[in-house]
Amino acid sequence: MDTQQLEFFRNTLNNLLEELLNQSWKTVSELVMDQDREIESFAETSIHMSRTLNLRLRSRESHLIKKIKEALERIDDGTYGCCDICGESISIKRLTARPVTSKCIECKEMEEQMESQIS
Ligand SMILES: [Zn+2]
Repeated sequence: MDTQQLEFFRNTLNNLLEELLNQSWKTVSELVMDQDREIESFAETSIHMSRTLNLRLRSRESHLIKKIKEALERIDDGTYGCCDICGESISIKRLTARPVTSKCIECKEMEEQMESQIS
């Protein structure tokens, strides 16, 4: 991969990260608003449920944020675009669709197959 492509993915990942961080902030403010509503309505069950949902969303967000940060680190140490498992380079097409990926399509498919066999 050349420098220009690396810069492209660095920008893409940074934008994704920024978007996610903004969304997290939104989730946090919704969480705070829920608490205000609790005082007003006493509908504790539904508030509790929406809070659980928010927390679940947030844990998914932080998982993604972690993945994006890892991808940015791989750009810095020069391993970005190489498959974690077989070491082959991941196709640009796949990276464009899923910039946080660390596995080539073959290894990913093999992994998914193994996972479906276990479960
Ligand atoms: Zn691979």
